[in-house]
Parts: sequence; structure tokens; C-alpha cells
Amino acid sequence: MDPADNRAMSARIIDGKTIAAGLRARVAERIAGLGYRPGLTVVLVGDDPASAVYVRGKDRAANEAGIAVHTIRLPADAPEPALLAEIARLNADPAVDGILVQLPLPPQIRTQAVVEAVDPAKDVDGFHPVNIGRLAAGAPFLVPCTPLGVMRLLEVEGVTLAGIRALMLGRSAIVGRPLLALLLGANATVTVAHSRTRDLPAECRRAELLIAAVGQPELVRGDWIGPGAVVIDVGVNRRADGRLVGDVAFAECAAVAAAITPVPGGVGPMTIACLLENTLTAALLRRSVEGQKPTAS
Ligand code: NAP
Repeated sequence: MDPADNRAMSARIIDGKTIAAGLRARVAERIAGLGYRPGLTVVLVGDDPASAVYVRGKDRAANEAGIAVHTIRLPADAPEPALLAEIARLNADPAVDGILVQLPLPPQIRTQAVVEAVDPAKDVDGFHPVNIGRLAAGAPFLVPCTPLGVMRLLEVEGVTLAGIRALMLGRSAIVGRPLLALLLGANATVTVAHSRTRDLPAECRRAELLIAAVGQPELVRGDWIGPGAVVIDVGVNRRADGRLVGDVAFAECAAVAAAITPVPGGVGPMTIACLLENTLTAALLRRSVEGQKPTAS
């Protein structure tokens, strides 16, 4: 960012790294008091380098939190029945509280069949139709990690969601739709925008809370932001020059918004923290430990 951008900036920067570290510490503290280590198994099929990096990050964070984490690696040409058999074994293993199958999967494997094979009680990604249904019905159980991370950021920032005019930009199954349900559950008045929305800038300007999850580098411009809005940028995009940017033009929007997440260092770190929270939640619910509440917050 150049110094001119700095001078123009008025928004509070929402420090996802610090907030995530706080959540991770709280999860670790609660796990330390349990008397057992919740178990998380991550299944990685193939050798996609980005997936391998994500899995290593999850492994490290889970270990630090006191979770007994194991990674199962299957070859890139593993047939679907082999993966389904592995999942069936993990579903039946009482030491396993959480199962996470790293996506994307190779083409010979049907992603939906795999997602639906995971026991909903161990579905720490929150992608199983049962968990999606519970969330849509207003009775969330295990909630997808990135949307949950956005809600935790808003909580820590003290954003009052009841009655707020929120715009969810993007309607994907993993971000936009779960956030619609979570925001509604928090009594926000939610509009969902997508690629067919007319006059997107005007829709954005009306929002007191704007959450962008579109996967389009810096789509949201400064003059799309209503003065004093809270802006949450879920996007992670690699520009041609190698720089990582969000879906929001950060400097321009920070000049208008009240608070904004940076990329990197905003929503990103919350995703892994919420995976740890979900593993703890799954362990508490499955094992029904007396006297423990089923959330990490
Ligand atoms: P996705 O499945 O590709 O969905 C994108 C959504 O944005 C769709 O609803 C699409 O509309 C809409 N859209 C695309 N271009 C648009 C445009 N020009 N105007 C208005 N709407 C537009 O993406 P996703 O999986 O939700 O991911 C979104 C971004 O978040 C990506 O950058 C991804 O890398 C990032 N992400 C980050 C994390 C994290 O941990 N930080 C986790 C997940 C995703 P239609 O439905 O009409 O096609």
C-alpha cells in the first residue's frame, strides 16, 4: 500500500490473526480441561500442492490445541470405494470425533458421495446435507468453518447484527448460503447478491454490513461502500503480479468503511480456528461430557 492510501484510511482494521489466535487459545484451554484429547482425522487424496499446504496448517494448529490429529493419505488414483471404506472405518472409530476430507477430490471420485458418507456428528466441515439442513432450518449443529469464522469476527468486533442491513455478496454452498442462514439467525436483514444481480454497486451501498465472497479480485470498489459500513472480505485471489488480494479493493474501501478485514490476515486465519472449535464441539456433543457446553466461545 502506498503512503497516500494510508493517509486516506479511516476504517478500523479487523485483525483476524489476533482474533483467531484468541479463539485457538480458548479452544486449547477447554480441551486441556477435558481429560481426553478430541480426535480429528484429515483425509488427503492425491498430491495437490495447495491441499498439502492446507493439511499441514490444519495438522499443526490442531496439535497445538491438544487435538489428536491424524492425516490419512491416499494416492491420486485411489478409487471411490477405497475412500468410502476409509470413511466408514472412521465413522465407526470412537476415538475419531471429527473427519475432514480435503477438497478438491480427483475426478474419479464423486465429491457429493464422499460428503454424504461422513457421519453428520463427525462432519467438522459442516458440508453434510443434514448439517446444511439444520443450519437452513435455524437449528445449526456443525457449521462450515469459514462462515463460522466470519460470525466469530463480527462477535469479537462487537458488531450488533440484530436489525442490521446486511448484503451477502456471493451465494456459494460453502460461504454465501451458510452465511445467509447465520446472519438471519442473528436477526440481520439479509440481501443475497450474485452474478445476476442488477446494479450491484447500489445494492452494496445500501448495506451496513457487506460480506464479499465472489472470487473476483478487488471487484468491490470504494464508491460501492456506504459510509460507516463494516466490510468483511472472504475472497482470496492471486493477481498476475503474484500479490494476494481479496474481493474488495482494500485501500479505497478502507477510506469509507468503519471497519474492514484485510487480505491476508482477516477471514483466512479464522477458518482453521473454527475447524478446531468444530472438532471440540463434535467431541463434546458425541461424548456428552457432563458440565461442558457444546461451544468453544
Ligand atoms: P464460488 O463458489 O465461485 O461462488 C462465487 C459467488 O460469487 C457466486 O454466487 C457467483 O454468482 C458470485 N459472483 C461471481 N462473480 C460475480 C460478479 N462479478 N458479480 C456478482 N457476483 C459474482 O466462490 P466461493 O467458494 O464462495 O469463494 C469465494 C471467494 O472466497 C474465493 O476468492 C475463495 O478463494 C474465497 N474463500 C476463502 C476462504 C477462506 O478461508 N478465507 C474459504 C472459502 C472461500 P453466481 O452464483 O450467480 O454464479
